[in-house]
Amino acid sequence: MASLADPSKVQPMDVTNLNDPNRSNRRVAYYYDHDVGNYHFFLGHPMKPHRIRMTHNLISNYGLCDEYEYDAPHPEGEGARVVNDITQGMDEELEDAVKWERRVLAGPRGRAMQVFRPRRATKTDMTKFHTDEYIDLLEAVTPETADAMTGGGIRCLTGEDCPAFEGVFEFCTISAGGSLGAAEKLNGGLADIAVNWAGGLHHAKKSEASGFCYVNDIVLGILELLRIHPRVLYIDVDVHHGDGVEEAFYTTDRVMTCSFHRFGEFFPGTGDVRDNGIKRGKGYAVNVPLRDGITDATYHTIFKPVIAKIIETFRPGAIVLQMGADSLSGDKLGGFNLTLEGHAECARFVRSFNIPTMLVGGGGYTIKNVSKAWTKETAIMCGIELPEDLPYNRYMEYFGPRYKLEVLPTNVDDHNPPEYIEALKRHIFENLRDLPHAPGVQMREVSSKPLSRVMGISKEDEDDDPDNDLDARIKKLLRQRQMNGDVDSESDSDSDVAAQARPNRARRQGGLSLRPNPRPRVNGFPASKRQPSSSPEGDDCDGRKKRQFFKARVGDGVWDPTSLLNGGQRPNDGLVNGVKPKLFGGIPETWNVGRASRAGSPMSVS
Ligand SMILES: [Zn+2]
Repeated sequence: MASLADPSKVQPMDVTNLNDPNRSNRRVAYYYDHDVGNYHFFLGHPMKPHRIRMTHNLISNYGLCDEYEYDAPHPEGEGARVVNDITQGMDEELEDAVKWERRVLAGPRGRAMQVFRPRRATKTDMTKFHTDEYIDLLEAVTPETADAMTGGGIRCLTGEDCPAFEGVFEFCTISAGGSLGAAEKLNGGLADIAVNWAGGLHHAKKSEASGFCYVNDIVLGILELLRIHPRVLYIDVDVHHGDGVEEAFYTTDRVMTCSFHRFGEFFPGTGDVRDNGIKRGKGYAVNVPLRDGITDATYHTIFKPVIAKIIETFRPGAIVLQMGADSLSGDKLGGFNLTLEGHAECARFVRSFNIPTMLVGGGGYTIKNVSKAWTKETAIMCGIELPEDLPYNRYMEYFGPRYKLEVLPTNVDDHNPPEYIEALKRHIFENLRDLPHAPGVQMREVSSKPLSRVMGISKEDEDDDPDNDLDARIKKLLRQRQMNGDVDSESDSDSDVAAQARPNRARRQGGLSLRPNPRPRVNGFPASKRQPSSSPEGDDCDGRKKRQFFKARVGDGVWDPTSLLNGGQRPNDGLVNGVKPKLFGGIPETWNVGRASRAGSPMSVS
């Protein structure tokens, strides 16, 4: 494949050499629903679904597909329309093959991939992971009823990050529908790579929205892939920890999760290098906590060896790659310093293993850069290196003054010294060495029961799930702590269980029963620094002492992840100064959900 580093070698749109291992036999299925760009969180909210529409427009203007042409794999799918009907009446499999061949043979500007408008996800699809109660609420809630339905914002939709914007449920049906369609396409063997940029919403929990994510399309997609594949690898390059996906599969060895993320006083606060799964899943969660300002060179000294080692050890049948673009340099919420080339290299590297792969989006808040990244990465999946000069497109004014397919690095310092990266690698490799090679799976378990129930992540299994003993013990322990303010008095074994099982607890409880009100949680702080909080004065005192403790622990407010490699401290539970950090903390004074949501023109948002 030509390298962008040398523009003279770029051979754009060369799709003729089907024997090129980088080009051939990668049938790419791309999922897109034009309606996704219609939804608005609220004016000033950093998450802008419009970026998906910008991406699609750039992709089509580069000639990778026709903007308004969709194949409709499910004719009954809402809004689906069949553009080319010569395949009508054919056997479904043959039909797909014919359509694909036509794409490839259509010539240099002949669309490099199949384009699908996904079937919308249904409530039944969603409740394979989420609780019925949560999805019912999501479907019914409106900006006007949100306060009453969420008990003043303390259940399901908490805080300002996840507002009940108009059309929130429909938005989720599109996002999740794309990932389900992509997974089904891979399962059917009808594509080697499937792309859904509207997906990748990795923070959503079983019964709670989090970090701009409502329905976890990734978990749903992985559950679908597990019907066919004994083992699925999840890789997350979003700047934030992929906590929702990690939690969902924290106790299974059938899904390995691997997240590269900024760590330390940063949302969601989880993702310590020592958090690596529990029970059967012990060792099957990999966390790579990084510091601010990481560059391409530093990033790939750890990304490539870790991914190569995981694939060698785990031997996944399918990969889900979350390409959150907030790890790019210049992102509004990020803090990393990756260029477009460095970000895309992750996709190129994963593609080189030639394992069925699903690509999903995720974060990304400087939207011109998001659309550039996902366009370039779509092309790479097709084996095409795009020219740097952007083609004319509807959103051209976003890309000035250079109009280039590039994201340049800034001159911020890289706070990831080589010794820190080496320490992380050493720790991760030691863990991977302990794992059995390509763990076997008792496929007989995949019976008539829904897969999520077999996996132990569906609520219906609670009666017959031995994990519930563990949950009950943890719950009791934590209640005890809350009552007597004593966290150090429990036995070592209980302490270990509680520390290890925190994400499990949050998953099963939906974070609700243990968090009856939105006051900061105080788990994890030693008893000597805590007071019983029976009065407002007590709370203040408690909060002050927690802050003092935090300062004493991490110096002048700067978290030092290296210190966590030295042992002796517990894995953190995501709390900073006793509070879970917000992805996006502030609602502008001008917030008006009703007025700002679902505005008609895509150009009304910038
Ligand atoms: Zn993110």
